[in-house]
Amino acid sequence: MSGTDTMVLRFGEGKISGILSAVLGLMSLAGVLCFHFPTILTTPALTQRVGVEHLRLLLTVVMAFAFALGLVNFMIGRSRELGLLGMISTTVTQILGGASVQVGAAAPHGLLPLGMDALLLGLLFNALLFIPIEKLFPLRRDQPVFRSEWRVDFSYFAVTNLLASVLMAIVTASGPGLVGWLVVSPIHDWVRSRLPIVQFGMMALVADLAQYWIHRAFHTPRLWPLHAIHHSTRTMDWLAGSRLHLLEVLCTRVSVFLPLYWLGFPQDTLYAYIGFVSIHAVFIHANVGINFGILRYLLATPQFHHWHHTDEPEYADKNFAVHFPVLDLIFGTHHQPRGKWPQSYGVIGEYPPSGMLAQHVHALRRVFSRIHR
Ligand SMILES: [Zn+2]
Ligand SMILES: [Zn+2]
Repeated sequence: MSGTDTMVLRFGEGKISGILSAVLGLMSLAGVLCFHFPTILTTPALTQRVGVEHLRLLLTVVMAFAFALGLVNFMIGRSRELGLLGMISTTVTQILGGASVQVGAAAPHGLLPLGMDALLLGLLFNALLFIPIEKLFPLRRDQPVFRSEWRVDFSYFAVTNLLASVLMAIVTASGPGLVGWLVVSPIHDWVRSRLPIVQFGMMALVADLAQYWIHRAFHTPRLWPLHAIHHSTRTMDWLAGSRLHLLEVLCTRVSVFLPLYWLGFPQDTLYAYIGFVSIHAVFIHANVGINFGILRYLLATPQFHHWHHTDEPEYADKNFAVHFPVLDLIFGTHHQPRGKWPQSYGVIGEYPPSGMLAQHVHALRRVFSRIHR
């Protein structure tokens, strides 16, 4: 593991304003490209749900912050390159039409649209929500935002979000083919006549049952090389959970979606669940040291999932559930001692190489060689 990419930020040096300006400036540039090329860069369902006018307002706000922070960095910063980058990219965004780009009549999306909008919104939302929470309630107070190996996890975050709509298209297309013949309309009718909150609870429980067993399968020797990537992070924070082999993401999403499809949950409940899981799955990895008391048995907390990531061999293969610790209690894999946290995190055994591409290739080679042994 390299520790060279750690970056400690302190107020008053101008580094924070510079980084924020550059990040927001580049995001606004990517955002205006989404307005220009919606059919290839955006997720159909997301654009429709959020609404173009809200996205325009958001782009205006992001551009304003990027430019203002760039100016601040230029005035107080010792190195001004990042602030300059932020101001230049915001200016280019404005030249390209900014928030007033006309979005043409809804052209059909391409076969494999990229989720650039999901990536930008996900990054903005998660960073704004979780960085302040991690600073207010830290488990490890001295852990910087740009900690060791943050670039690797950011690559995973970016690629997974970019491919999210492609993955969703594969899952949606595979649903009718794989379980369409199994669909039983009386079950659909029963499920759809429940209250929305009951539907949501049922959906989360069914999804977590599927997640529990697929996750446990990934801890068996043949599939472990794929999942070892997720465990290879030695630092837990809001970005760490993104580190997942794309084949694992695909397998998990298909396995979770199929029973939900078979049971006939309505689309609104599915979107509500996707919204919930995208926040909750980030939260359980976060550098948040809150002890939730008895509530920790009700819903998975950072403490619950941090124990899943420990590199202490006596606590290996515990806490497979993503949402409900009760599943681990039922299946005998629960470990959540009151007020105690793991000392360190990582892989028990052989470590994957560093870097997203090397990790993907290495894991596939290992799995194939284990299957054909
Ligand atoms: Zn695991
Ligand atoms: Zn995890």
